[in-house]
Amino acid sequence: MNKLIYLDNAATTKTAPEVVKAMLPYFTEHYGNPSSVYGFAAANKDVITRQREIIAESIGANGSEIYFTAGGSESDNWALKATAEAYGKKGRHIITTKIEHHAILHTADFLEKNGFEVTYLNVDENGTVKLDELKAAIRPDTILISVMFANNEIGTIQPIEEIGEIAHEHGILFHTDAVQAFCQVPIDVDVCHIDMLSASAHKLNGPKGIGFLYIRKGVKIRSFIHGGAQERKRRAGTENVPGIVGFGKAVERAAGSLKERTAAEAELRDYLIGRIEKEIPYCRLNGHRENRLPNNVNFSFRFVEGESLLIKLDMNGICASSGSACTSGSLDPSHVLLAIGLPHEIAHGSLRMTLSEETTREELDYVVEKLKTIVEDLRNMSPLYEDFIKNSKA
Ligand SMILES: *Cc1c(COP(=O)(O)O)cnc(C)c1O
Repeated sequence: MNKLIYLDNAATTKTAPEVVKAMLPYFTEHYGNPSSVYGFAAANKDVITRQREIIAESIGANGSEIYFTAGGSESDNWALKATAEAYGKKGRHIITTKIEHHAILHTADFLEKNGFEVTYLNVDENGTVKLDELKAAIRPDTILISVMFANNEIGTIQPIEEIGEIAHEHGILFHTDAVQAFCQVPIDVDVCHIDMLSASAHKLNGPKGIGFLYIRKGVKIRSFIHGGAQERKRRAGTENVPGIVGFGKAVERAAGSLKERTAAEAELRDYLIGRIEKEIPYCRLNGHRENRLPNNVNFSFRFVEGESLLIKLDMNGICASSGSACTSGSLDPSHVLLAIGLPHEIAHGSLRMTLSEETTREELDYVVEKLKTIVEDLRNMSPLYEDFIKNSKA
């Protein structure tokens, strides 16, 4: 097999051809600035409104509650920083988790340096937030709870409805980073009591550099990017019209196919998990077995270095990841794998493979065959493994 096998769809996805096709005229023909008065450009305003509605509908929201941003990171920054700014007089305590994306963790860290207190909730060995611990962390001055919908490394889906309920019982705003879950898991912002939600197009076969923040009507956070009056004065800057059109198209196709697409992905996911567990010894599935993104597979292999594994997979045309894209390249083990209780040396030997709707069983068969050989080869070079085998024979 000499074609590329792309199993890193949690990092980014291929832009769907119909998405690119929908975007192209907005570069070359309908390039007007939506804020201009003449009809040629002003028509783009309606185009944007239509995309807002398509997106809003997919999460049970109203078009007027969708604000376009430059992606998931901006949406996360906006939600946290603007809530701190707007509600800082009411209280200065924020609750989040130890397994968030760095767009949340580093923003929380920034807020801590600016006079806010942040509680980072632990998770259990499957990566699930403990509701008792959440309840115990709530204080009279808590203004925001931010818990990701699904984790980008280990795929665990959180009990978002329960968390939202707890937040609202206490009159606390609830934000969720749904960048991985959006269009992979059905989401209803009312059912889940969500006040703010972050999403990004490039994780669902849309273009890079466009995302949105859902802000429930009545939530009084202000603009994060100052300038013009775009996005109802809440996010300045000439609208990324091609990006917005591409995002709308991506949501249309992904939300329309959600049930069948994710069922097929989950079947392949479980096939891959099953074969690895059966055919490769001393491995551990990371993340929740059932409450899990339909395309996420994450394993730790004892006596193996994740980076070496990735390089050898790459030599065989297989793209995967050992942690989140942001941390690969650094020597620290993933904060998520440490939070679920893995010792450093086991966290280091981890591999994330995230499937797409185009992934086939044949590709996965090839991956398992390669993985078996690679893991065995790496273990045969490991003095720790040699000791382990000696001791287990003794
Ligand atoms: C990718 C990702 C982000 C960042 O989104 P960008 O659009 O790349 O800025 C944030 N949170 C999670 C969970 C992600 O997977």
